[in-house]
Amino acid sequence: MQIRNLPADDGSSGWINVLPPREPKRLAPPLEADWVIVGAGFTGLAAARQLALHYPGDRILLIDAQRVADGASGRNSGFLIDLPHDLSAPDYIGDLVAARNDMTLNRAATGYLRDILKKEDIECHWRECGKIQGAVSTSGIKVLDAYRSGLDRLGTEYRMMNSDTLERKLGTSYYRQGLFTPGTVLVQPAALARGLANALPQNVQLCEQTPVTQVEYGTPITLTTPGGTIKTGKLLLTTNAFAKEFGFFGNALLPVFTYGGITRQLTEEEQQLVGGDPYWGIIPADPFGSTVRRTPDQRILIRNTFSYNPTGRSTDAIRARARDHIEKGFKARFPKIKNIEIEYVWGGALCLSRNHAPYFGKLRDNVYGAGCHNGLGVTKGTIAGKLLADYLAGEDSEMLRYMLSRPTPSANPPRPLLDIGIKMTLLYNQLKAGAER
Ligand SMILES: Cc1cc2nc3c(=O)[nH]c(=O)nc-3n(C[C@H](O)[C@H](O)[C@H](O)COP(=O)(O)OP(=O)(O)OC[C@H]3O[C@@H](n4cnc5c(N)ncnc54)[C@H](O)[C@@H]3O)c2cc1C
Repeated sequence: MQIRNLPADDGSSGWINVLPPREPKRLAPPLEADWVIVGAGFTGLAAARQLALHYPGDRILLIDAQRVADGASGRNSGFLIDLPHDLSAPDYIGDLVAARNDMTLNRAATGYLRDILKKEDIECHWRECGKIQGAVSTSGIKVLDAYRSGLDRLGTEYRMMNSDTLERKLGTSYYRQGLFTPGTVLVQPAALARGLANALPQNVQLCEQTPVTQVEYGTPITLTTPGGTIKTGKLLLTTNAFAKEFGFFGNALLPVFTYGGITRQLTEEEQQLVGGDPYWGIIPADPFGSTVRRTPDQRILIRNTFSYNPTGRSTDAIRARARDHIEKGFKARFPKIKNIEIEYVWGGALCLSRNHAPYFGKLRDNVYGAGCHNGLGVTKGTIAGKLLADYLAGEDSEMLRYMLSRPTPSANPPRPLLDIGIKMTLLYNQLKAGAER
């Protein structure tokens, strides 16, 4: 089977460009491996690490078409969110059993990463500072009210913040109300992904910039790359929406892009003009609004704007339009500081499914996968990758049973009907987000 669409993320992610240059690991892949994992995002990195711990004598190959951190895992907003947020439920919590399971998974992912960072001495601006969900409009405040009642039902800690408190903390008077929850961690995602890749166990060989262009299922499974053909007994797909290129889930996996921009570093004078805490993160009450961060190295990040790109690739023209919205979002929130250039603007693919379900477990004989984390893959991808390796090693746990019991991504109407439907939905919701954006 030929892989028709390959990932090709833009080279303008601020998170990667501010890091020191790093030579990608481009060793020619071996002819044979016991396990091949395709996709070196957070899901693949966790799967490779855990599999290597279970099978220290096996040869494990982790392949990516791009450099580590070039994909969504290195270009997201860097929120490790601990709480569930079910968009289909009126109080955003919905079924309590599922919500508690989600929370357990998210918190397990955070703990797992915290331990690795400590052990391997990985520096990625890890900040256990919680997050604020911010509302600008009356409809945003209604969302916070509903979520608050959901959190009461779930019995988790939160604190409401009024506009004065928010202004003192964030240095902007833009928000009318906030809901602070303490369990979220903020990171520099590209630094985290690179750090994890550099600390992979010895029996994992990482091959970056090595696209899999063809796959033949059988015993063994044969993968074709520009550097040669690889035969393997077992294949793990941690390719997010690109699993459909390998013949799984078809148009149930929706590559919806979202766009982020980051300013240059603020000068001392500008930092004082803004005031507020030295770092923080705020997500919008309306999911189509802006996520905003002040990073520990004193840049402001704004993420808003969505596009649907069924091939898994975005375009420069869409990114240019996104820049306008990002600049507008920045100016609306920080009118006090002028002439601040948004230094980098980039896009990245979320993998969404209509029923918000991921894929996890066996896909066919000797082929396994984990992906489609519906916009929350820093925690969900990490824990899914680790649990997939546990599953392959024959382990059993409550978390694993929960993952295996979940529905898979639900099918969608055929194209072009699907494309039209998603594009209209994105357009409508972004307009509706109004000032939240
Ligand atoms: C702008 C933005 C902001 C976001 N913010 C957050 C956030 O704050 N918190 C959060 O939890 N999530 C966030 N997300 C979502 C999060 O980034 C993803 O859910 C997560 O990175 C998914 O990880 P993954 O490892 O499953 O997939 P990916 O990171 O997409 O990795 C899949 C990899 O597979 C590779 N691949 C695909 N096909 C092939 C092939 N044929 N051959 C070889 N390699 C291939 C790709 O190159 C890619 O590196 C955001 C996403 C974006 C784009």
